[in-house]
Amino acid sequence: MFLRVFVAVTIFAVLFGSVTLAAEPAFKVLAFYSTDVESDHVNTANDAIAFYRELAAKDNFVFDVTTDWNKLNDNELKPYQLVLWLNEFPKTPQQRAAFERYMEHGGGWIGFHVAGYNDKDTHWPWFVSFLGGAVFYSNNWPPLPAKLTVDDPNSPVTKGLPASFMSPANEWYLWKPSPRVNKDVHVLVTLDPSNYPIGIKDVIPSGDLPVVWMNTKYRMIYMNMGHGKDGEKIYSDPVQNKLFANAILWLGAKK
Ligand code: ZN
Repeated sequence: MFLRVFVAVTIFAVLFGSVTLAAEPAFKVLAFYSTDVESDHVNTANDAIAFYRELAAKDNFVFDVTTDWNKLNDNELKPYQLVLWLNEFPKTPQQRAAFERYMEHGGGWIGFHVAGYNDKDTHWPWFVSFLGGAVFYSNNWPPLPAKLTVDDPNSPVTKGLPASFMSPANEWYLWKPSPRVNKDVHVLVTLDPSNYPIGIKDVIPSGDLPVVWMNTKYRMIYMNMGHGKDGEKIYSDPVQNKLFANAILWLGAKK
């Protein structure tokens, strides 16, 4: 009798276990980064990869990583619901055109920091419009911590965050025009004006500085968080990490 129960329990455990193992991942992410850029950009990209790998294991999604930006092509992107740009952006017309097709056909994107960078020399008008019209204007230096305020506490991206929190450190970007003037842009997090003036060598004296936003015409979230200074960690704060986790879990699952 005992043996029979034991065998039954074992069979159940094996079956149940195998079912769990075979569960389809919730979604698939392909993260792009580069190793031949500013060392702070590379270091934080590596920290982001470690953070998201751990989250992927816990929350059952696939998190693939590449430094080959030529993988921004129709075929390679096909299996992925979400693309991440960790502190870098594509440079060739082919990579850019493939990304445009991907996003125009329902692909998802989270861009960090310099992923959103654009100026008169980047020559990619589609991307400026995709970003909500935001054009890079200036930044503080060195990277500094700052108080951020949550604009929309009811968004799935800011769920569980306090009304304001300290972000560990960043090279904050001011945009002109601010993406907030675009009616399709939904700003989620903003630099609190109490931080001004922010910077030592390079100072941002004032201005509307959205930090996290969505262009609601796409499945996209831009996050300005990029890096501290000289290897200083920014994936170190549980509140901000919750924002990073919410963003990928919500956007990855969003149809
Ligand atoms: Zn930077």
